[in-house]
Amino acid sequence: MNRQKSFENDNATLYLVATPIGNLQELNERAIDTLKKVDVIAAEDTRNTMKLLSHFEIKTRCIAHHLHNEKESAAGLIKMLESGMDIALVSDAGYPLLNDPGQIAVNMVIDAGYNVVPISGSNAALNALVASGISAQPFLFYGFLGSSEKERMNVLQEIKNYPQTLIFYEAPHRIEKMLKSAKEVLGNRKMCLARELTKKHEEFIRGNISEVMEIVDTLKGEMVVIIEGCHKEKDTISPEALYGLVEEYVENGLSSKEAIKKVAREYGVSKNDLYKEYHGLN
Ligand code: SAM
Repeated sequence: MNRQKSFENDNATLYLVATPIGNLQELNERAIDTLKKVDVIAAEDTRNTMKLLSHFEIKTRCIAHHLHNEKESAAGLIKMLESGMDIALVSDAGYPLLNDPGQIAVNMVIDAGYNVVPISGSNAALNALVASGISAQPFLFYGFLGSSEKERMNVLQEIKNYPQTLIFYEAPHRIEKMLKSAKEVLGNRKMCLARELTKKHEEFIRGNISEVMEIVDTLKGEMVVIIEGCHKEKDTISPEALYGLVEEYVENGLSSKEAIKKVAREYGVSKNDLYKEYHGLN
C-alpha cells in the first residue's frame, strides 16, 4: 500500500501538468504557477513546450521526455527528485499519460516514494464526451484503435457488447477506415465526432455512424469519436445466453471466475449475481 498526503510532506514532487489542446487560455493559474516554480520541466517535445512557455513568460529549464527515451529519462527524473528538485511533466497537449508519455515515470516515481500530483486542465476525450449528447457515464476511454484493419476489428469485437459509451482518438487520414470498421462491428450506432476542440473551428457532428461517414472525407483537424455503448443485448439477453457465453470463454481457456467477470463487464450485469446464478447459489 502507498499513501500520499500530497501537501503534508516535504518530499520532492512530480507534477503532471495538463496543457491546452488548442486554446491557450485553458492553461490555468495553478498550472502556470507550477510550471514557474518547479526546477525542471520534462516535456514530450521541448520545442513545442518552449512555445507555450514563452507565451506565458515561463523561464524554467526544459528537458526531453518522450516515448523513445521514457525509461532512461524516468531514471534521470528520479535522480533529480532524490536531489530535492521538483519536476513538472507535460505532453504536447492535454494530460500527459493519456495517449502520451508519462506512465513509466509515474510508476517509477511512486515506487521511489516521491509525490505524484496532478494539475488539472484540458483533455480532448472529456471535452468531447460531455458535449456529445451521448450518455456521459459510464464510459470507456480507448484512445487510438490502431492502424491495421485486423487490429481495429479485434479490439472492436472485444468491446462490442460493452454498455459503456466508447471514446476514441483518431487521425484525420484514418477516420474513414475507422468508422467503416466501427459500423461493421458495432452496427449503425449513435455517435458524435468532435473536432478542433477549443479552437476557432471547433465542431460537433452528431448523428449515426452512416450519416457521419457521408461527410467524413471533408473533415480535417484533430478529432475525437464518441460512440454509444451497447444497449439492446443488455435489455434482452437471457440468463441462459449469459451462461452460454461464460461456458464459451471457459472452453477457450478462461477460468470460470475470469469468464464470469468478463461476461458481467461486457453485458453490464452484476458479477456477483451472475456468479451465484451460474453456480446455482440462489
Ligand atoms: N493527451 C491528450 C489529451 O489529454 O487529450 C491526447 C494526446 S493524443 C497524442 C492526440 C489526439 O487527441 C489527437 O489525435 C486527437 O484525437 C485528440 N485531440 C487532441 N487535441 C484535440 C482537439 N483540440 N480536438 C479534438 N481532438 C483532439
